[in-house]
Amino acid sequence: MNALTRPAVFVQPPPRLENLYLSDRLLVGLLRRKLPPDLYARLEAEFIELGALAAGPLAEQQRADRHNEPVLTQWDPWGNRVDSIELSPLWREAERVAVRFGLTAVPYERREAEWSRLRQFALVYLFHPVTDVYTCPLAMTDGAARTLLDSGNRALIDRAVPHLTHREPAQFWTSGQWMTESVGGSDVGRSDAVAEPGPDGVWRLYGKKWFTSAATSQMALTLARPAGNGPGGQGLAMFYVECRDATGQLDGIRVERLKDKLGTRKVPTAELTLDGTPARLVAGASGGTRAIEPMLKITRTWNSIAAAAFMRHGHRLAADYAMRRVAFGAPLAAQPLHRATLADLEAECAGAMLLAFQQAELLGREEAGVLDEDGVALLRLLTPLVKLVTGKQAVAAVSEAIEAFGGAGYVEDTGLPLLLRDTHVLPIWEGTTNVLSLDLLLRADVVRGVAALGRRIDAAVAGVGAGTSLAAAAAAAGAALRRAAAWLRAAGDADTRQAEARRFALTLGRCFELALLVEHAQALAPGADRAAVENLAQRFRRSGIDLLADDR
Ligand SMILES: Cc1cc2nc3c(=O)[nH]c(=O)nc-3n(C[C@H](O)[C@H](O)[C@H](O)COP(=O)(O)OP(=O)(O)OC[C@H]3O[C@@H](n4cnc5c(N)ncnc54)[C@H](O)[C@@H]3O)c2cc1C
Repeated sequence: MNALTRPAVFVQPPPRLENLYLSDRLLVGLLRRKLPPDLYARLEAEFIELGALAAGPLAEQQRADRHNEPVLTQWDPWGNRVDSIELSPLWREAERVAVRFGLTAVPYERREAEWSRLRQFALVYLFHPVTDVYTCPLAMTDGAARTLLDSGNRALIDRAVPHLTHREPAQFWTSGQWMTESVGGSDVGRSDAVAEPGPDGVWRLYGKKWFTSAATSQMALTLARPAGNGPGGQGLAMFYVECRDATGQLDGIRVERLKDKLGTRKVPTAELTLDGTPARLVAGASGGTRAIEPMLKITRTWNSIAAAAFMRHGHRLAADYAMRRVAFGAPLAAQPLHRATLADLEAECAGAMLLAFQQAELLGREEAGVLDEDGVALLRLLTPLVKLVTGKQAVAAVSEAIEAFGGAGYVEDTGLPLLLRDTHVLPIWEGTTNVLSLDLLLRADVVRGVAALGRRIDAAVAGVGAGTSLAAAAAAAGAALRRAAAWLRAAGDADTRQAEARRFALTLGRCFELALLVEHAQALAPGADRAAVENLAQRFRRSGIDLLADDR
């Protein structure tokens, strides 16, 4: 065959990444809307810098790091138990970047007052998709700082918080959160690790922690039952552990093995045996499940931002690919059904993103002491709600993004399967969908929370004129909220209500996402960006808001 008759070599065009910040019109629009203009002007360069780093060097390193995983070495050549864990190069770089951008420092420096969490989570949103879930230890580190500060334990605050929020890599610590035992993660009150008191306020912990993701951390917050305490969560106490002794050896801790997981494979999730681990009480010798709640508020917010970030990443890759991949004589982006599929996907991404950032905004306002009573009730409702709704959306959305690549999406060295596997943890850890739905339904203040949400939704859709393109979306959000509130008020037997708890929670979350889309569209100046968000709101309305409706 000569060169003229040989068929042309076919090469599929890979998706390309543009600056993750500048190419994200929704994020730019949201931050411009939420941050005061002078503050936005000060922060913009930082967002652009991280957006460029994420789209360029970090994404490249992520691709190069594909085969690397943490390695546990339990014994040295001379028979000493060492249990050292070597992290992947990407993770070591991710830590440097995280510390440089202050991903756990920003909310505690609080230079942006009530907007500090928005700054932080905008950075996290850009960082997350290309760092193979290094956000897991960061979330727990942030959560530990918040929990220690809320505990009021001065000695531990002074000892640990400066490290957890440091901007120098050599001084920076991460923290683990060791709650799950084999008897239960959700049912944490069954934990059977025990704590024995010792001299000088140092306790000794004994037991097995079944999932501990930040196994290389310098410290951890954990739960154990002080000897003689009663059963259940109330009988547990929260302890502070420094994992290594002065010589750098693990102190009364054995790493039995690393979990062989579906995803998050860069995360060194270990099974630990605590065998006389020195520990200090953080906030009294009981009530540990309550004392550790601030940790969950923070980690669930990180989870929600991570979910939205993975969704956006899947969509941006699929949208870019659709411009290049030709099928049936035209780029995919020109095929009406593929375009509609991507637009529906984008609507889910936008709803999840606005909801996750709403949670971040409220958290920042609470920490700055400027949240009113309604806001406090709303934040309490949203913390489990936003996590469960976005976690569920993320798996579906990323799965759709993978399908948008056809066969290429299923091939490992495109990096796309990794995205789906890593996303799949988001509905599981930090509380599963069912457990959080029940947590929401059975909490004493749910009625107040739903009332506060109703007022927030009314405010979000106020001003939408009858007959405008947003009218149907505004009406659908309000109607779904009213049905959920009526369902909550209605009497019913406990089992039936529990069985419906997930539909109740998802309805609340989806109608709020729709209302936030309407609110955002209205806030934008007339033009292409506004028209795009109006279109997303209309699409979102048609993709199922009211999951309690009789005809579902
Ligand atoms: C990769 C990874 C890393 C992790 N890292 C950590 C870590 O660092 N620290 C830590 O403490 N934990 C960690 N975990 C544990 C995680 O938080 C728990 O696995 C999770 O909370 C679920 O608990 P479980 O495994 O006990 O599941 P179960 O509670 O046994 O739940 C099993 C299923 O039953 C459902 N279910 C449970 N109770 C009810 C109910 N009453 N009604 C209806 N449905 C119900 C759940 O929704 C779930 O679908 C990690 C998990 C994973 C996968």
